[in-house]
Amino acid sequence: MKYYDKVIFELSRPGRKGYSLPADNFGVDGINEIPSDLLRQEPLDLPEVSEADVVRHYTNLSQKNFGVDTGFYPLGSCTMKYNPKINEEIAAHPAFTALHPSQSEESVQGALELYYNLQRALSSLAGLKEFTLNPYAGAHGELTGLMVMKHYHQSRGDMKRTKVIVPDSAHGTNPASAMVAGFEVVEVKSKPNGSIDVEDLKPLLDDTVAGIMMTNPNTLGMFETEIMEIAKLVHEAGGLLYYDGANLNPLLGKVRPGDMGFDIMHINLHKTFSTPHGGGGPGSGPVGVAEHLTEYLPNPRVVKGEDGKFHITTGDKSLGSVSSFLGNFGVMMKAYAYILTLGKEGIRNVGPLATLNANYIKESLKDDYLLPIEGVCKHEFVFDGLKDKSTGVTTLNVAKRLLDYGFHAPTIYFPLLFHESMMIEPTETESRETLDEFIEVLHKVAKEARETPEDVKNAPLTTPVRKLDETGAAKNPILNYKQLKNAQ
Ligand SMILES: *Cc1c(COP(=O)(O)O)cnc(C)c1O
Repeated sequence: MKYYDKVIFELSRPGRKGYSLPADNFGVDGINEIPSDLLRQEPLDLPEVSEADVVRHYTNLSQKNFGVDTGFYPLGSCTMKYNPKINEEIAAHPAFTALHPSQSEESVQGALELYYNLQRALSSLAGLKEFTLNPYAGAHGELTGLMVMKHYHQSRGDMKRTKVIVPDSAHGTNPASAMVAGFEVVEVKSKPNGSIDVEDLKPLLDDTVAGIMMTNPNTLGMFETEIMEIAKLVHEAGGLLYYDGANLNPLLGKVRPGDMGFDIMHINLHKTFSTPHGGGGPGSGPVGVAEHLTEYLPNPRVVKGEDGKFHITTGDKSLGSVSSFLGNFGVMMKAYAYILTLGKEGIRNVGPLATLNANYIKESLKDDYLLPIEGVCKHEFVFDGLKDKSTGVTTLNVAKRLLDYGFHAPTIYFPLLFHESMMIEPTETESRETLDEFIEVLHKVAKEARETPEDVKNAPLTTPVRKLDETGAAKNPILNYKQLKNAQ
């Protein structure tokens, strides 16, 4: 182990400095003089380290990390596609980064035009009338969309509608957002094949239902073939349909949520539209709505005037504001660059390629891993752990062992429909060679699980840190060197 492989937090040494200005600069007067009223009165309580210490610390930490730029990242539901670097270059252009949100409308026409065009592009891809780009993430989009739902019912004097129906396979943010928006959550069951049980849904639909939250394909990667029937039933009962757009990738440019009967949706720009996420950067969760809901969208909005100019407006019936200014503009620039570099034709290839990759992995591994739902999936699928569970190797063990072989783990223990869920989403940006290597490694891990199970159970063996106490890390996070000092 090299000395810098150790996880060292405490680098501070009293008196060590990153930078200080010399007292004598070869007799040149005055250049180091900081006016005394600008000088800090008390020294800041910061780590005392040299510049080289800081550079090495962060560079070494960055090399201990795993990202889409270092390897395959099949984290199901998260759409960890490659983040094209041209998007970053465009978003870093000083013509955009030097803007201030309080500048006058006339001086930011270009930025507003980009914002407006992205709203239009998303509307066209979603089949919905209008989009707001204000929310900061998918979950924030859910909350915003549910607030639209609430305002819609209340503005009609329909105060009884307090329930939101959520499938038992849903992402945890769906019921959480519904609760935060002040709704009561009612669960609808899935059938053995993972799709919503329409017979279970029917008795839930009455005049207390505000709407249903769904994703299609669902969290098992299966297309809900009865969606038109479901939409009809929910609408007849006076409810609205919310589409969780985290699974939009396989449908991009081919099938539109608006055409399936959805009234409201969010899009995760950091999933479907290739902008970095996780540790890689902030997100953006635009929300689209059908025509009868546009007036409730959050303030402010960007519109195009009769004069051809772009304006920032606010509406009286709006649910109010959900973000500061117009949201995460840098993320929008990257997503817009992605859309324009693909074009209408390119965007239509995303879904089929993502779908092909997922099915290729699924079919190649189902001799070793338990596939609870047969059939063609969309962009992702779920295994219920190893087929042969006799040696006691769990999904968690397999996930950790993958790290030893240089792959990020899939999403594990979600969806909750199975005990040993392993949710795999390769995305369209991975090559045949990468998929083949991943398949080979998962076969190898299955063999190890049968023959040398302790190797799998003790994994990871080669990562900078071994198996972590994840609950402890979440409950008692140590986020800086002072907390570490106190903990020791
Ligand atoms: C990622 C995800 C969300 C939440 O999106 P964030 O941008 O992480 O807040 C919601 N639903 C599903 C199915 C997801 O995969």
